[in-house]
Amino acid sequence: MNTNTKMTGGCMCGAVRYEVTGEPFLVSHCHCLSCRKHNGAPVVTLAGYKKGQVSFSGDERGKYESSPGVARAFCGKCGTPLTWEGDGGEDLGLIVELHLSTFDNPETLVPTGHAFYPERIAWFEVADSLPRYEGFVDMSPLLRHGPVSDGLP
Ligand SMILES: [Zn+2]
Ligand SMILES: [Zn+2]
Repeated sequence: MNTNTKMTGGCMCGAVRYEVTGEPFLVSHCHCLSCRKHNGAPVVTLAGYKKGQVSFSGDERGKYESSPGVARAFCGKCGTPLTWEGDGGEDLGLIVELHLSTFDNPETLVPTGHAFYPERIAWFEVADSLPRYEGFVDMSPLLRHGPVSDGLP
């Protein structure tokens, strides 16, 4: 991919659509409780972009402030969870992390690790060999590569 790459996605009913330009700074699985709650799923996969790379169209997305300065957006019609939106720190500024499964072609975005691995549902294990991190991928202690083989969790 290059900086002019465009990808599109949206919610299940099509009322909220988005387009992203350029590459994500992060593609990661997340096992944290907030992501799992917001999505009703045992694990979530996110693609992170600077706010300026993302444009929304169609219906205004609904937003829930899950913590101060952090919004989790969804479609007001069909309820599809769409984003985590907040401050990505000094280098990134405001960021929009899109739920990877809402992209029209999600297979082109490949995750590089598991975030918040210790927060996962204890029985949840995956067979991939991606690095598992205590917190955010590449920004927190790396705990292990690959699945546990000596019993869960
Ligand atoms: Zn919708
Ligand atoms: Zn999370």
